[in-house]
Amino acid sequence: MRILLTILAFFSLCAPATASVPLADELCTLGTAVEGNISEILAAGEKFDCSKDKYDFSGSKLWMKIPFKADSIPAGAVEVQGDNNGLTSMAVHSLLADGSIKSAYFSEQQVIDSWRPKGHYGLPIPGSEDPVTRSQIETVYVSLDNPRVASSITLVELTSKKKWDDLKLPLSAMFALLCGMAIMPFFYNTFFYGALRHSFMLWHSVMIIGTVVYTFSSSGLIFLAFPETSLTTKFLLNYWTLAIAIAASGFFLDRFVEPGKIAKWLRSLLLISAVLPVFVTAFVFQTIEGYDNNIRNYYHASFIPYLFVVLYTMLHALRRGSKAIWFQIAAWTPIIIFSFDRIARGMDLYIGIPELDYGLYFVLVLETIILAFGVANRILKLRLSHEHTLKKQVELTLLAETDGLTAIGNRRAFEKAFKRNLHERKYHHLAILDIDFFKRVNDLYGHEIGDEVLRLVGRELAKTRHFSARIGGEEFALLMKPNERGSRKSNPASELTSICETLIRSVHANVPEIKQPVTFSVGVAAITKRTSLKSVMAVADKRLYNAKNNGRNQVVSFDLSNLGTKPGSDAAVV
Ligand code: GH3
Ligand code: MG
Ligand code: MG
Repeated sequence: MRILLTILAFFSLCAPATASVPLADELCTLGTAVEGNISEILAAGEKFDCSKDKYDFSGSKLWMKIPFKADSIPAGAVEVQGDNNGLTSMAVHSLLADGSIKSAYFSEQQVIDSWRPKGHYGLPIPGSEDPVTRSQIETVYVSLDNPRVASSITLVELTSKKKWDDLKLPLSAMFALLCGMAIMPFFYNTFFYGALRHSFMLWHSVMIIGTVVYTFSSSGLIFLAFPETSLTTKFLLNYWTLAIAIAASGFFLDRFVEPGKIAKWLRSLLLISAVLPVFVTAFVFQTIEGYDNNIRNYYHASFIPYLFVVLYTMLHALRRGSKAIWFQIAAWTPIIIFSFDRIARGMDLYIGIPELDYGLYFVLVLETIILAFGVANRILKLRLSHEHTLKKQVELTLLAETDGLTAIGNRRAFEKAFKRNLHERKYHHLAILDIDFFKRVNDLYGHEIGDEVLRLVGRELAKTRHFSARIGGEEFALLMKPNERGSRKSNPASELTSICETLIRSVHANVPEIKQPVTFSVGVAAITKRTSLKSVMAVADKRLYNAKNNGRNQVVSFDLSNLGTKPGSDAAVV
């Protein structure tokens, strides 16, 4: 039962407003050649089909025979209404009690101009404007040249001309307002898509355009803006725009919901069922020329699988903890409530408000607006999560390049800085600084004190104008800028000597537990153009080794093995 109700709901959603006085049961039909005229029809006698098969007929001209029951028809001038999709020229004839006929012929343009704000034609019944003649009308014959869809017949009603003339302006204003409201998020999407490039914004825009053009066309507003629009164009626009809007809503849903909240198989099913109406529309218009009783049935039936898939997707995403799906649920609830209202009224369960027939437009426009809020919310969430990821990345990179104990750079940071320097050429020397007899400090005073010394050395080295990093247990590296005069040949030994002095003093002052001075050995190597890290390190290491061998507590900036060839010593003892 529930399934049946849902199917009915969707049918009613897609169908234009139903007739307030349904005549479908009472009217009879006859198909003839286009040339047939009313006197021939009457002369030929009764060949009209009043059976259930009356919507299937052959011939390119359709005749409808409608009983004119004066008491159940509104007072005043009466008009005949029905779906104007795909129509061309028409004629309306009144057969009076005395056997005379009053006829009115309408060109396609006149049929267009007679549009009513629910996608109907509204043609005056000749003679009904005069009370005396009106009382004599017994039967109304309506002929339609080359009709396309059965709703031009099934939705026929006889109604007050004045009522609809009066309603035309306010209803048109209301539809125009609805179109205006729906189009707003389109501009917003287009504006922000330039910067944000989330594909669901594009799909939402396609939905909006589909919905607005559908409202614009099917409500009849299109004839206000473009009075020359043919009824076939309007027919094609209605069918295509609704199918496209529906298909876009599937793609939108797929992209809009957070990743992983819809299972892969369901995503495929959602997209396939969403494009089905587009294929069916293409198929219907490709293969069916002229009238076919089933055009609307095929079209509406093609939406049913999608409706079920969307309902299931909403539950599914909700169970998987999607937050975004709430917007979809909020947007679709009015559609579902509206559909049930229409079935209930269609089944005469209660009278309700007939104006709710226009609810279709409201709920469609409301859907696009609610989803516009969803889009804004989703963009905000995505931006926040993007910022969070960036922050995390920066944190992790920093962590990965920071020495945990001293908070200065680690070996990785040092290698990166060295590589960067290959083209920046900011640093001209590499110094490796190793604490002398550090094992002894640990042995004598404990690891805690040893750590304190390492932290202190890190802090002091960070204060210098050079790049410092801890590259081993008690081994530090300095990438040294040239001295203030900028000379490339400048020897950093003296500056390193004073750095070591500062370190010795600082450890002495800050770690009073250590009785003996903690000293340092330093090996220095020049960083020349295109020298690899490995070769510079090898030189600096060798000189550090020399410093250790030479009694420690000194800076060595040239190879001691060269002493024989180079005058003077660059080994500075601190
Ligand atoms: P040398 O003058 O030859 O460099 O002698 P050394 O004792 O400094 O050198 P060695 O390589 O023999 O010992 C280095 C010591 O540094 C051994 C280890 O316990 C200590 N060490 C390495 N990392 C840490 C650390 O993170 N904290 C502490 N407290 N000690 C460390
Ligand atoms: Mg060492
Ligand atoms: Mg050491």
